[in-house]
Amino acid sequence: MLIPNSIETEILHHPLWEKKGIELSIKRLDQVHSMASGNKFFKLKYNLIQAQKLGKSTLLTFGGAYSNHIFATAAAAEYVGFKSIGIIRGEETLPLNPTLKAAQSHGMELQYLSRSVYRNKKEEAFIDNLKKQYGDFYLVPEGGTNALAIQGTAEILTEKDSKFSHICTSIGTGGTFSGLAKSIEPDQVLIGFSSLKGDFIHEEIRSLFSQFEIQTKGKIQILDQYHFGGYGKHNEGLLEFIRWFYQEFQIPLDPVYTGKMVYGLLDQIKNNLIPIGSKILVLHTGGIQGIAGFNQRFGLSLPL
Ligand SMILES: *Cc1c(COP(=O)(O)O)cnc(C)c1O
Repeated sequence: MLIPNSIETEILHHPLWEKKGIELSIKRLDQVHSMASGNKFFKLKYNLIQAQKLGKSTLLTFGGAYSNHIFATAAAAEYVGFKSIGIIRGEETLPLNPTLKAAQSHGMELQYLSRSVYRNKKEEAFIDNLKKQYGDFYLVPEGGTNALAIQGTAEILTEKDSKFSHICTSIGTGGTFSGLAKSIEPDQVLIGFSSLKGDFIHEEIRSLFSQFEIQTKGKIQILDQYHFGGYGKHNEGLLEFIRWFYQEFQIPLDPVYTGKMVYGLLDQIKNNLIPIGSKILVLHTGGIQGIAGFNQRFGLSLPL
């Protein structure tokens, strides 16, 4: 069982929002666990319990070479005494990047698949083949989104958070957004900032809501204009913003998810799209482990 640390919420003071009569707080999900951090803790929580119930001893999952989900699965599996297998998209590159090196050091066995083969990851015959190769395992899908993950992310907000008017999260697969949508109060607005390019995300979220029978009491909004060129893409403006935010608040943001979300939120505030009197709660969904690999890849030194 993963035992969470207590999660702090801090108020951030800055004239950028305070002069507009807006209060902004950040909930540090990135500090929820030293092993499985951020939203991945919540997504894995009930999956690990279920795997144990089923008597499994191995987790198998899929992801890219810098994936927070791969890292969290490896660390959480080791923490609860499971073996883990990571099926990685693309060719192996040596030396291993910091994400994969850390996953391996937490006991994860890595297997690389070409992008074309990797695409079959949801097919039954493909999974059966993996079972022949590795024996029985508990399958966690790429990005970790399933019904049990949503059950977990529905626990991110607690009673104390009901005082906020707006809740902000980053969106990848939408599993976190879905759990939050389930748990917001009637007078709350959930804003999701998509880290992927394209308006398909609206349909994706609709389909998750119908598949997992998610109803929301509050209002939801998905913003798809803060992707900076696409998933994992960045520009100088985003990097500058992440550095600025760290200087002001000593809180690291990652360039894939949380950096884009907070950038997008401040852009919304700047353009008067958030009403005066709003009390905003930003969820720091984690992703800090990915910064080292990003820095190495692009020769940068973003704070972490
Ligand atoms: C995985 C991840 C997300 C996206 O979560 P989804 O549930 O896939 O939408 C957001 N932020 C961080 C830091 C993540 O690692």
